[in-house]
Amino acid sequence: MAIRDLAIIGGGPAGLTAGLYAARAALDTVLFERGMPGGQAASTEKIENYPGFPEGIGGPELAMKMAEQAQRFGCEIIYSDVDKLERDENGFKIIYGGSELVAKAVIMAAGARPRYLGVKGEKEFHGRGVSYCATCDGAFFRDATLAVIGGGDAAVEEAMFLTKFASKVYIVHRRGELRAAKVLQQRAFDNEKIEFVWHSTVQEIKGEQKVESILLKDVRSGEIKELAVDGVFIYVGTEANSSLLAGMVKFDENGYVIAGEDTSTEVPGLFVAGDLRKKPLRQVITAAADGAVAVAQVEKYLSALNK
Ligand code: NAP
Repeated sequence: MAIRDLAIIGGGPAGLTAGLYAARAALDTVLFERGMPGGQAASTEKIENYPGFPEGIGGPELAMKMAEQAQRFGCEIIYSDVDKLERDENGFKIIYGGSELVAKAVIMAAGARPRYLGVKGEKEFHGRGVSYCATCDGAFFRDATLAVIGGGDAAVEEAMFLTKFASKVYIVHRRGELRAAKVLQQRAFDNEKIEFVWHSTVQEIKGEQKVESILLKDVRSGEIKELAVDGVFIYVGTEANSSLLAGMVKFDENGYVIAGEDTSTEVPGLFVAGDLRKKPLRQVITAAADGAVAVAQVEKYLSALNK
């Protein structure tokens, strides 16, 4: 079995940028992606803060362009989940979909996934009114009344997107002040279809066949009220996709990998790029930057191996 120079796990902005840089550096590179390329960015309707697109660019479009660019220079993409990552005498063994391959170095760029609220009704109504992706499911809610849970960039941005379809969107936030960027906040405050429900947490999502209402608790008074909604979009942050690295590297208290600013870990030849890395800012641009930095480190690592 041929030993590949580099395996990249994850085809979001970090992995795809790493794929582009690695292929241009003539490294024999394979990238694993379990779904559509683009990661979380691909389920964002419009990205307005990635430079070079003054009018913004659709998340799926940016993702496809990144994948195309990496492939144009020779990065191979394997569409499969990676089941296991093991250290091997020649580097790392990657076990996936009933096959395996060995690579001298690995860039782990598996990113993060939506965090669950963990309330009654959330699992039961997933796909029947509960969603984590407005871009994917928003169009099913024409003229509907929706609740978006959360107060970060994602909640506010996606709530605004949902007003294209819904007649009313409540943003339910547990505090009295949003975490989202000021420019987004102002747009949401100016949007007539959006109403804020402050200081409130979701206790339960209720319905018969599909979502019909949510029970909200005012965290100051303890008062519980029921809000009639047709759908609930949950944007309460993200969780790291770090399970493949269990026992290999250090994690912070939220499961993000503690790696250097140069993406290196305590395991020689293993680099962690993008949202999966503990970092102060998780955006497409910082993920892409990590991908480029990681490849520079891989090149150094491989040339030291060959000496
Ligand atoms: P986030 O910034 O971590 O915000 C999560 C929000 O959910 C916070 O408002 C938080 O409340 C709330 N929350 C967390 N747990 C909760 C719970 N159990 N119940 C109720 N509310 C809960 O997450 P995000 O908005 O998904 O964004 C993730 C990252 O992607 C961020 O770095 C963000 O900047 C980035 N992003 C950027 C853009 C953009 O730049 N346009 C768009 C999307 C995402 P508190 O505020 O009280 O903690």
